[in-house]
Amino acid sequence: MTPDFIIVGGGFAGLATAYFLTTRKVGRVLLIEKESMPGLHSSGRSAAIVMQVPKDPVLARFSRRGMQHLDMLQSRWKGGIGLVHNGSVLIGTQADLAQYAESVADAVRAGVAAEYIDAEQCAHLVPALDPTAIEGGIHCPSDGWVDVELLIQGLAREAVATGLFTILTGTEVEEVVKADGKVVGVRTSHGRFDAPVVINAAGPWADEFARLAGAQETPLRCHRRHVFVTLPTRPEAEVWPVAWNISEGYLFRPMQGGLLMCVCDEAEMEPADYSVHSEIKRILRDKALRISPALAPPVIDHAWVGLRSVAPDHRMVIGPDPLVSGLFWVAGLGSHGVATCCAAGELAADLLAGVRNSAAAFCNPGRFALPSAG
Ligand SMILES: Cc1cc2nc3c(=O)[nH]c(=O)nc-3n(C[C@H](O)[C@H](O)[C@H](O)COP(=O)(O)OP(=O)(O)OC[C@H]3O[C@@H](n4cnc5c(N)ncnc54)[C@H](O)[C@@H]3O)c2cc1C
Repeated sequence: MTPDFIIVGGGFAGLATAYFLTTRKVGRVLLIEKESMPGLHSSGRSAAIVMQVPKDPVLARFSRRGMQHLDMLQSRWKGGIGLVHNGSVLIGTQADLAQYAESVADAVRAGVAAEYIDAEQCAHLVPALDPTAIEGGIHCPSDGWVDVELLIQGLAREAVATGLFTILTGTEVEEVVKADGKVVGVRTSHGRFDAPVVINAAGPWADEFARLAGAQETPLRCHRRHVFVTLPTRPEAEVWPVAWNISEGYLFRPMQGGLLMCVCDEAEMEPADYSVHSEIKRILRDKALRISPALAPPVIDHAWVGLRSVAPDHRMVIGPDPLVSGLFWVAGLGSHGVATCCAAGELAADLLAGVRNSAAAFCNPGRFALPSAG
């Protein structure tokens, strides 16, 4: 049966969109993923943190909505999604922390506890921090993290259960087929599939895919980021919140008896290179010593690299392509794709169902269109 929607990409963007399109019975969905299983790229390589008070109030709104959905999935799905609410502490200079004031105030108005705290309170919540090296922090007790695999599997499983969802793995979309300027389907490594709407959820390859479709160029860029996991020698850390030094670019959170650590590196690159770079390990050692001497030197068990696809305004790209009829974007989830994927999928499903959603204007792909020469 011909699907109503073809989604290209089985990461959080594609799966969350499929989940909302099918569970809300908007239409039949065929999701095409080039790898042997979903979630092998950005989504499977994230730090899995869900923070509700990013600096940008628009992203913060998406994150809060995302957390509401994640809470619901945690309680409704048998086995949950491994959602842990240990909280978060953002640490930084007073000047940097002040830039979060609007998001903090919005969170409180929306019923999400968030408050500015002093250095002693930061070190009380995260004893590994040196209070003399901290100016202050922001505490959000309901932040946390998820089990990425459970979330990926759950979104796919629930979509399949509707009877409206098919996933085709090991299949690369090579061409977007058009008739009279409108999208009518895709040509893949395993043949042609037709649908009146094709959804670009190709993550780090979203721009490359848009070029295949003759769509507008977006200024999405791929940024590399390393994640390190230490040996499980920190059982005391199990109750710690996420600690994120926003001024220095350094974060850690408990993971499997050890710590997940990150120096928030963001070298720009093509979506190809997943090798772990030794200079980033050195940066991690330096930052750990300076900011959390009790954790230095971190004894690394394993590490990985992932790619974040980021727009210049760090906001998502969700909506119809301004040039190609039938092409729809769900991309640019940037650093917040775990936190915001359900809000992104919900927005996409609303727009595709013709339902008004006040968040649409912030994510419109048309915001990147070049002004006409005339
Ligand atoms: C190291 C790291 C840490 C992160 N930490 C966090 C965090 O703590 N919290 C948070 O909220 N976010 C975090 N993120 C961001 C989050 O992981 C991403 O925003 C999110 O995973 C993006 O999902 P996506 O579906 O857009 O991309 P992807 O997961 O990359 O999915 C895109 C999919 O499209 C497929 N594809 C591409 N082209 C084609 C084609 N032509 N045909 C078929 N399939 C195709 C790819 O194979 C891929 O599976 C982190 C990211 C990284 C890299």
